[in-house]
Amino acid sequence: MSKMIRIFDTTLRDGEQAAGINLNVEEKLEIARQLAKLKVDVIEAGFAIVSRGDFSGVKTIAEQVKGPAICSLARAVPGDIERAWEAVRAAERPYIHTFIATSKIHMEHKLKKRPEQVVEMAVQAVKLARNLCPEVEFSAEDATRSDWDFLCRIFAEAIKAGATVVNVPDTVKYTVPEEFARLIKYLKENTPGIERVTLSVHCHNDLGMAVANSLAAVLNGANQVECTINGLGERAGNAALEEIVMGLRTRSEFFTADTAIRSEQLYRSSALVSALTGTYVQKNKAIVGENAFAHEAGIHQDGVLKNRLTYEIMTPESIGVPSSKLILGKHSGRHAFKERLQEMGYFLLDEELQKAYERFLEVADKKKEVSEMDLEALVRGELSQVEDFFSLDYFHVASGNKTIPTATVRVKTKDQVIQEASCGDGPVDAIYKAIERITGMQVTLKEYGIKAVTGGKDALGEVSVRVAKNGHTFSGRGVSTDIIEASARAYMNAVNKIARHQQATHS
Ligand SMILES: [Zn+2]
Repeated sequence: MSKMIRIFDTTLRDGEQAAGINLNVEEKLEIARQLAKLKVDVIEAGFAIVSRGDFSGVKTIAEQVKGPAICSLARAVPGDIERAWEAVRAAERPYIHTFIATSKIHMEHKLKKRPEQVVEMAVQAVKLARNLCPEVEFSAEDATRSDWDFLCRIFAEAIKAGATVVNVPDTVKYTVPEEFARLIKYLKENTPGIERVTLSVHCHNDLGMAVANSLAAVLNGANQVECTINGLGERAGNAALEEIVMGLRTRSEFFTADTAIRSEQLYRSSALVSALTGTYVQKNKAIVGENAFAHEAGIHQDGVLKNRLTYEIMTPESIGVPSSKLILGKHSGRHAFKERLQEMGYFLLDEELQKAYERFLEVADKKKEVSEMDLEALVRGELSQVEDFFSLDYFHVASGNKTIPTATVRVKTKDQVIQEASCGDGPVDAIYKAIERITGMQVTLKEYGIKAVTGGKDALGEVSVRVAKNGHTFSGRGVSTDIIEASARAYMNAVNKIARHQQATHS
């Protein structure tokens, strides 16, 4: 019998702390919904006390996402814990995660507290949280540099005070698997009451060992792992969720452990987080990288063709990689299109379906054959534009090495059609300036990224942008066989999100 390891996802908290990532509430909600489909056990949705944006992110997710426990981080002080509770209380399964530093250096220099005082703060914090909330996790920050017996003591006290989970973070020691395994074993053997609670680990990847450390901990009694999609996180990031999950599943006979994760949702989760955070996944990244399942070497290819298991330890289907096989053409009807999407797990409303189908026809017209990979990108790019304030009707650009790039753009709104022209530093810049004139919306382009969805000359290009307006950032995605058009669509997508946001905050 495999023991079940809980997956605590902190993409929206620790991952989002990563430099340059600043998701808005809608984007956080979209990711949280995908995490629920993936069947993670806990979603750490943010750090409620930090800002109004963080608070409303956690609260919105708590109100709308069902299935996983919804968690907010809180320091071990009453104000933090009360704010965290306010944010998560509406959840089906509310969860508070409180922490305090336990290493000598942190206690002396950061907290300026004696060890007894730190234990007392932890106990009070856990008691307060448990009075409010059924699930409470206590973390000993910088655990790997803390005295082991002190850790046993503070965890025992936290458990007595009502903690349901105790967590061992490798905050800055950069531990290695054998050493971390010994610590987990020691805690397991010397902490009174630890058998009654969940023992969690939280590893950072500064030396590339976050996953190895987490798995070593699992072998020695940890039953929850904190991790992020694509290993996103501060500095070199956190343990990568997809690697933990597939490591355990692929080598289940060794670990005798598994998770509740629906692995067929891994690829989609990775692609969504990558698109919304603007953080591309390296090609050779384990599990979800573009080349993870590509067998280039001839001898491997030959083996795989004869029997996939010769070199493939897991299948692309098991993590839900859409196939690059051609599946639809421009003669495919609406019904076939709908069925295909449903097979891929997309159940669209009639209106969304109609829009997606129209876009598909436009693309199929240029591309002849459309693969599942293309469809996935199309749906990912188009679905976030449900309610369009502005829709791109027509554009024309003139560009060259000796001309000034100029763009003419026509945009439809609910009751009018507006046309504008502009020049720019390049064709994309010219289009963006024309759109800015039409919508009257001045934004700052923070990031622009482009990638080819599949190979070949007629490949679809997927553009993602991040723009800033009045201190908020918004992402946009666009897909087309024409990269200028994909760029325009991505920008329009972001502008529509701003319009929706303005409407929501003004009404
Ligand atoms: Zn962390």
